[in-house]
Amino acid sequence: MSRTPNVLVIVLDCVRASDFPGVRPGVDGMPATKALQKEFVAFPRAVSPATWTLPSHVSLLSGENLWEHGVHGKGRSTLPSGLPGIAPMLRRLGYRCLLASVNPFVSPDWGFGEGFDTVDWGGGYGLYLRAGGSVVPPFSSAPNEPARDALSRFRGSRWTGPATQYLPETVGRFPWVWDASIRMARHLRGRTEAPPVVGSWLEPTVERWLGGQASDRPVFALLNLLDAHEPYLMAPGRPVSFSEWTRFATSRADRRGWMYGSWHPSRRQLAVLHALYVEAIRMLDARIGRIVRAFQATGRWDDTICVITSDHGQAFGESGHLFHGFRAFEPLVRVPLWVHWPNGDRGGSRARGWASLIDVAPTVAEAVGEPMAEFPEAVSLSSLVVNDRPGPVCAVGDGSQWGRWADLPADRKALLDRVEVAAFEGSTKTVVEKGRVGARAWELDEEGYERSSEPRELAEGGATIADLRSKLERLTAGPVAKLSVDVGERLTGWGY
Ligand SMILES: [Zn+2]
Repeated sequence: MSRTPNVLVIVLDCVRASDFPGVRPGVDGMPATKALQKEFVAFPRAVSPATWTLPSHVSLLSGENLWEHGVHGKGRSTLPSGLPGIAPMLRRLGYRCLLASVNPFVSPDWGFGEGFDTVDWGGGYGLYLRAGGSVVPPFSSAPNEPARDALSRFRGSRWTGPATQYLPETVGRFPWVWDASIRMARHLRGRTEAPPVVGSWLEPTVERWLGGQASDRPVFALLNLLDAHEPYLMAPGRPVSFSEWTRFATSRADRRGWMYGSWHPSRRQLAVLHALYVEAIRMLDARIGRIVRAFQATGRWDDTICVITSDHGQAFGESGHLFHGFRAFEPLVRVPLWVHWPNGDRGGSRARGWASLIDVAPTVAEAVGEPMAEFPEAVSLSSLVVNDRPGPVCAVGDGSQWGRWADLPADRKALLDRVEVAAFEGSTKTVVEKGRVGARAWELDEEGYERSSEPRELAEGGATIADLRSKLERLTAGPVAKLSVDVGERLTGWGY
């Protein structure tokens, strides 16, 4: 028998498991999230299938790992049409479907949108423009498309276009210039009360959209919030002392310099970046609360499956890594995962089994009475609340994207441009790597975190390693996408 609960998926881009409340203490100062905790089941052992936005969201929506859907840095660059997944399934059942993403990767430009009635997304520059106050999405697939944001016009201009290429690098190297500019802009606009969040249009857009839906039609909304993504700037609305401002606003976050080996962040610098990241996660608290309130205000919340998660984590010096992408390190692939089932069923409990973002699609399929057979590697999250997962859960590090950064120095390329598959099962993490004989294994503690940074070396052979090898082969069997100059420039302009 089919049922029709509402479905709400909130992706907190870049938020890693260890800094989100619920399992470890996480960051404090998140009252709205903590108040919701009693209605959610927390999955302490949750893994993202990829370490960056594009492949991870494809997995989330389709219920497939990277070697199944083929979208990653050593494969396709856009979604193939006809993928199975949540949106086409729910649309078939009469749902109204909204995709609203502050992250520009999750947009029709990269093939997202199939099955959705409405698609709204950010222009990428939202990361830099934090004066606050906008209630209209920069881009929208709906009729009567709103005006494109000013910076997208800058990008298209012969005169100002090249400057936008250097924006991420400039902000990363001289964050105080940008911080001071944002403070000035907010002052001049007289909108200092507007929260300085990234993509302030998201909640008003969700509220408008929900308000416009017939109450007897079930809804599905996939939302991406980008506040915890680098570059890290101070919350411009917050008053600070000059010494605090100096310490934070001068914290270089130069991803490109780190990639190329020209900048080696000190422990103190990494600690400052992490503190700014924690501040960004705190700012997500009120946003989560407002989105849930919108579902409550329209009488939908009690009959809603809500998933709060992230598409990947973030590193601040762990394993020598900065931010995300490239490698399947623990802080990059361990993500928060909370699930609210209708009426808060099993709320406040902790799930037992290893879980993945690919499990969200079969969870929804099960809840609406659709067959789950089209997700062969995924399982319903409801089965993992009290049971172990049958088999390992996997994550991929796909190295550099589509042959970009070919000019990396040899030592940095050798470190970053690796392809690896990590498998989590029981209390062991096993990693196999393309072109490297044998595997590495880490013992994990009760919460699934590595007990020490030093792995054991395993010889080739055995069922687990053979299985991971075959996944690695499938992953790299197809052709690597060729990106146009325009797309490459756009990625650079976003800081990728
Ligand atoms: Zn992301």
